[in-house]
Amino acid sequence: MKNEAVAVKPIRTLEDALNRCQSLGMRLSRQRRFILELLWQAHEHLSAREIYDRLNQQGKAIGHTSVYQNLEALSDRGIIECVERSEGRLYGNISDSHSHIHCRDTDRIVDVYVELPKDLIEKLEQQTGVKITDYRIDFYGTEIAPAPVPALGAALGAAISAPAAPRAAEPAPPPKSPGANGSAGRHPSGTQVPDPTCVSP
Ligand SMILES: [Zn+2]
Repeated sequence: MKNEAVAVKPIRTLEDALNRCQSLGMRLSRQRRFILELLWQAHEHLSAREIYDRLNQQGKAIGHTSVYQNLEALSDRGIIECVERSEGRLYGNISDSHSHIHCRDTDRIVDVYVELPKDLIEKLEQQTGVKITDYRIDFYGTEIAPAPVPALGAALGAAISAPAAPRAAEPAPPPKSPGANGSAGRHPSGTQVPDPTCVSP
């Protein structure tokens, strides 16, 4: 079977992203570096406007046009992620296949790697006659208060496994309503992490 996706090594760190630019013959201008550094530090999906604002707040002078052009170039070449939303595009640091958890309360999108059970994939293939080679899942939900802050960064490398990994000295969030513990739609067996190296502080 053809599998073109395997040909390119996934980008898992800022260095990978910089190297990919170079191997693609893209010039690594200061502005381009700023944008990549910001996305890899933030681990968020940001609009061009937010990227512009944050860089300028950090004292990294960069023009609007330059931000837009660089984001376009980087997402066109598959070095960063571009999420189309009705309000506009958002950009993220992870470019390989991953799933999203959309929080309806805060509008944030959290990156997660989810691996579906093999038998489920096979069932879908049998039903549809399509060989599944890739997938991305969009989860939607609401905030479980209080929001676990470290989850944002950790979620990058941590699979959706152990949704409520018990941590010492941390009380479990109180169940609010039926299904409110967030585990209702999850597959407990989807627990694989492609590569833990992308967890960075
Ligand atoms: Zn993403």
